[in-house]
Order: sequence, then C-alpha cells, then structure tokens
Amino acid sequence: MDRKNSYGEMGLKVEIDPKSGFCYGVIQAIKQAEDYLKENETLLSLGSIVHNKEEVERLESLGMEVIDHNELEILKNSTLLVRAHGEPPSTYKTALDNKIRVIDCTCPVVLNLQRKIKKGYESIKKDGGTLLIFGKKNHAEVNGLLGQIGGNAVVIESSADLNSVDFSKPTTIFSQTTKDVDEYENIIAQIKKLTLEQGGDLEKIKSHRTICHQVSSRHPNLKTFAKKHSVIIFVSGKESSNGKILFETCKSSNNRSYKIETCKDIDSAWFNKGDTVGVCGATSTPTWQLEEAAQCLERL
Ligand code: SF4
Repeated sequence: MDRKNSYGEMGLKVEIDPKSGFCYGVIQAIKQAEDYLKENETLLSLGSIVHNKEEVERLESLGMEVIDHNELEILKNSTLLVRAHGEPPSTYKTALDNKIRVIDCTCPVVLNLQRKIKKGYESIKKDGGTLLIFGKKNHAEVNGLLGQIGGNAVVIESSADLNSVDFSKPTTIFSQTTKDVDEYENIIAQIKKLTLEQGGDLEKIKSHRTICHQVSSRHPNLKTFAKKHSVIIFVSGKESSNGKILFETCKSSNNRSYKIETCKDIDSAWFNKGDTVGVCGATSTPTWQLEEAAQCLERL
C-alpha cells in the first residue's frame, strides 16, 4: 500500500512540540551566517554549524562551506565562522597569523563556561587538585574548554574514567553544556563516594552546575509531551549528542518513540489507526524539519 494512503486511512492527529526547535545559541549562529551570505558569496565554517545534515545542506546551498582544523592551518585571507560550541585559543591565534577574519558565534553560555573553567583551574592548581570536565571526548565544545587551560583536565565520559583520578586531593568538576542532568548528578555522587574511600575531604569537592538551561529544561517538557501522545517522532541529526540524550528522555516516558532524520525514515508500521503523534526534536533541529515531519504524517 502506498504510504501516503496508509497514513490517510489511519487518521493520525499530529502535534508539534512548541518547546522544540533550535536553542538560542544555534539560532544566533545561523542568523549571523545568513546575514553574511546575503552580502557575500561564500562563508567558511569551522566544523558543521549545527549537528543536523539537512540544515547544513540548506546553508551550503546559500554558500557556506565547512572546513576542518587542518584546512584552517593553510587558509589565508578569508572569513571564518566559529560556531556556537566555541574554540580553543589556538584557533584564534591561527586565524590571526593567517589574516583570517573571524565571525565569532560562540554561544554566550559556552563563553561563560570557558571563563569559569579558567578561573576554576587557577584555583585548583594552587590546591594541587584535579579539574574534571564531564563531557564527550573530542567533542568541539570540550576541546574548546580544554584549550582554555592547556589541556590540564581529565575528561569524564563515563564512571570508568573516574578510576584514573586521585580523589585524596581536591577536585573541581564542570559539565559540558549539553549533558544530561541526572547523569551529571550520578557522576558527582560517585566522586563523593570515591573521595571518602580514598581519604579525601568532601569539603574540597567543587561541583559546578554548568548544563545549559535550554537543554536541561527540555527534559521535563519532553517527558510531559511524550506521555501525552500515543507515538513520538523525534527528529534529530545522527551526530547530535544532545539529540541522543533527549531521545532517551522521550523513550523513557513513551516506548513508542522513534528517532528519524528525515521523513524517509518514517515507517507506517509504527502507527495504529487514530493514534495521536507528537513531533519533537533536539536543540539542533530546526522548526522547518519538525513541520516537514508533521506534514508527512498529516499528508493524508
Ligand atoms: S545548548 Fe545552550 S549552550 Fe549550547 S549552544 Fe544552545 S544555548 Fe548555547
């Protein structure tokens, strides 16, 4: 049976989550890129401006070109966009040396975290302790954070990474902005336990609440939204770490949750007649993609 007809007969009721869509940092970065491309033919972006293939392709059609750090080394006299994730100081130095103009779209929340980490490092260095960053190894934001302190931190991706830390000494921990709040709390609890076991002082543990509100507030919202519907269609790029986490939140509230990148991934077998379908997405999912997914479901 033709998919279009099969949905039509199903009479699905579709609602787009009003609280999904790009976060503030991504909206600002894309706006700056679009404004620049109105006046200029090309703009180089250091890494994908957003972890969303469709949106990157749309911007590429306007003249954006994605380059990596190796290409930056040999680039001269160009204009470069630094995305919301931020960059280490070495990137700005290369840009200066190579006479590259930088359009800096580092999100203010990330900038603030970079400053806090610098300060935190100065303080923990005096105490002879360790600075930890709860985040994804090699993620652009984490690389940008490490760059602020010459790489002098331990990146904690999972509890296994805590084994290499000496907790008899003082510890200060920050989180990447897009991590899951519960996972972070769990890591902090394990740090406290290990500190006690290794004869450290609980008073010397400083944990900083640095997960972005735009991410953390989405978890309770998504839980409520996912419970409200029979089926959840979560739209997100494969590369989005925030997308993976938020999708798990949907799944924990509604086991009929499905993650898609585009309409092509939708399978009619997921639905029953008369289902209500909630469409939502990550902080890197544009509203137009949510609308497109809703139209595919409604094209009936
Ligand atoms: S998730 Fe938060 S910190 Fe990250 S870019 Fe968006 S607004 Fe900025």
